[in-house]
Amino acid sequence: MEPTNRTSRAQSAAQGTTQGRGKTLLVKNADMLVTMDDARREIRGGGLYVEDNRIVAVGPSDELPDTADEVLDMRGHLVLPGLVNTHHHMYQSLTRAVPAAQDAELFGWLTNLYKVWANLTPEMIEVSTLTAMAELLLSGCTTSSDHLYIYPNGSRLDDSIRAAQQIGMRFHASRGSMSVGQKDGGLPPDSVVENEDAILADTQRLIETYHDEGRYAMLRVVVAPCSPFSVSRDLMRESATLARHYGVSMHTHLAENVNDIAYSREKFGMTPAEYAEDLGWVGRDVWHAHCVQLDEHGIGLFGRTGTGVAHCPCSNMRLASGIAPIKKMRLAGVPVGLGVDGSASNDGAQMVAEARQAMLLARVGFGPDAMTAREALEIATLGGARVLGRDDIGALAPGMAADFIAFDLNQPLFAGALHDPVAALVFCAPSQVALSVIGGQIVVKEGVLQTVELGPVIERHNRLAGQLVQSAR
Ligand SMILES: [Zn+2]
Repeated sequence: MEPTNRTSRAQSAAQGTTQGRGKTLLVKNADMLVTMDDARREIRGGGLYVEDNRIVAVGPSDELPDTADEVLDMRGHLVLPGLVNTHHHMYQSLTRAVPAAQDAELFGWLTNLYKVWANLTPEMIEVSTLTAMAELLLSGCTTSSDHLYIYPNGSRLDDSIRAAQQIGMRFHASRGSMSVGQKDGGLPPDSVVENEDAILADTQRLIETYHDEGRYAMLRVVVAPCSPFSVSRDLMRESATLARHYGVSMHTHLAENVNDIAYSREKFGMTPAEYAEDLGWVGRDVWHAHCVQLDEHGIGLFGRTGTGVAHCPCSNMRLASGIAPIKKMRLAGVPVGLGVDGSASNDGAQMVAEARQAMLLARVGFGPDAMTAREALEIATLGGARVLGRDDIGALAPGMAADFIAFDLNQPLFAGALHDPVAALVFCAPSQVALSVIGGQIVVKEGVLQTVELGPVIERHNRLAGQLVQSAR
């Protein structure tokens, strides 16, 4: 997206608030409201005033308008910006805890699962995306990216997009791809790779059909070849050209573990960071998942170019990939967001739990001051927004999208921690929100998802998961 475009859109949006009034929503009396604004204000007795899909005012409740079309009294709650998930493979929620892939490292884990995923159907993609999004929404996430890179049996990215529209999640849909199968020296079986011309044509179709570059966009499309070990150099380059032609973001996996580094050195004669630079895969419009093994040169390069990283601590532990040097990256100016990663390598895709693991893992690797609870929250909100290339989410301030969540502080897990409810959110890791609002729409109320009836979805999901795992036997 062009910065000049963004500014003029921001101005017109701000002017819009003084013109015709839309539906209003008042949130008041939160025990604590975390803004993540420039001053990082935390407001006791705070509230928000929303018109349509955006925030108009934030502050102590007695400084806000008295009433609105809808009023939510958040006494006893902590209110904060909706969390941003920067890396996921939602279809994998059909293959959590698969016995053959429980105890393997990345390449072995992938090899065991590719043959299962080869039997995915469009219905499976749609239902598993709904389930994965429900899990994210209930755990505090309001914007998520999803990296779908396998399209067997007529599956399309449109299947995920339909799910996002149905459930009401702000969505960055990544058109992944794999083009180098085993016969060409890649990792995936030949049956699940696609032709490169077809990949590029479908990616272009998706951008032209769905991508919304505007402020407060609910849906953006991302160009996202799966990884250097599953697509060609040409496809990486041509994907970058396509993405930059349309001004959309680019995403892939990079430097995930030591075998990934060895593959890069052997195949390309370069480290993953050098390879990314050589392909044009650095810049503010690019973010890479994992980067556990990003070296000093890579950290400096990403910092200088504003190349983002999706940090996925649970997955990195699950696959024993290592500990990403997040503190070093942030000190070097690398934008860092949080990602739950695919549900086959987490396998619990809950955002507050992920923020807690980011904090704990940083301490295991680099000492007790390597990450504070508030830094973990910042990565999960503002960090994720920056990684996705957005300046309209991640903080509660006038002109920002009305995306916020609330946690009920009167739960056993918070008892004794109310002297610092903000830190308690990360240290105590509640699993479910009481309230979630996205673009001014209430998506979760009193802990219940409002947009989709979950019971039948979970039943369908489990039936399809059984079919899928069975089909590979
Ligand atoms: Zn991943």
